[in-house]
This record gives sequence, C-alpha cells and structure tokens, in this order.
Amino acid sequence: MAFNKFDNQRGGNFGPREMVKGNWKCGECGTEITELPFEPAPDRPIYCKDCWSKKRPPRFSR
Ligand SMILES: [Zn+2]
Repeated sequence: MAFNKFDNQRGGNFGPREMVKGNWKCGECGTEITELPFEPAPDRPIYCKDCWSKKRPPRFSR
C-alpha cells in the first residue's frame, strides 16, 4: 500500500491541519479564540473547541 503518496510538505487544503490565526470569541461561552483548525465563515458564529464538540451532530462522533 502506497500510503505515503501524499507527502505533507505542501498539502494544500487537505493533509496536515493549518491553524488559522485570528481573534474571535466563542459565540456560546465567550471564550477567546486565537487559533482555529479551519477558516471560519464570516457570517457564522464561531465556537470554541468545547462548544464545537457539543454542537456537532452526534453521528460524527466515533
Ligand atoms: Zn465556547
């Protein structure tokens, strides 16, 4: 199996997670957020990790 075909040197949108830096506040608990593992949508509330996992649909948990 050639699993290492996609080297994570220049992954682009997939592969290694790129942390997006910024200054947000959690829309639920008000925690300050300075890094996100994804690009936040400007017209959507941003949640901290904690609230995210709470808001995520349960079918995503494994
Ligand atoms: Zn929160």
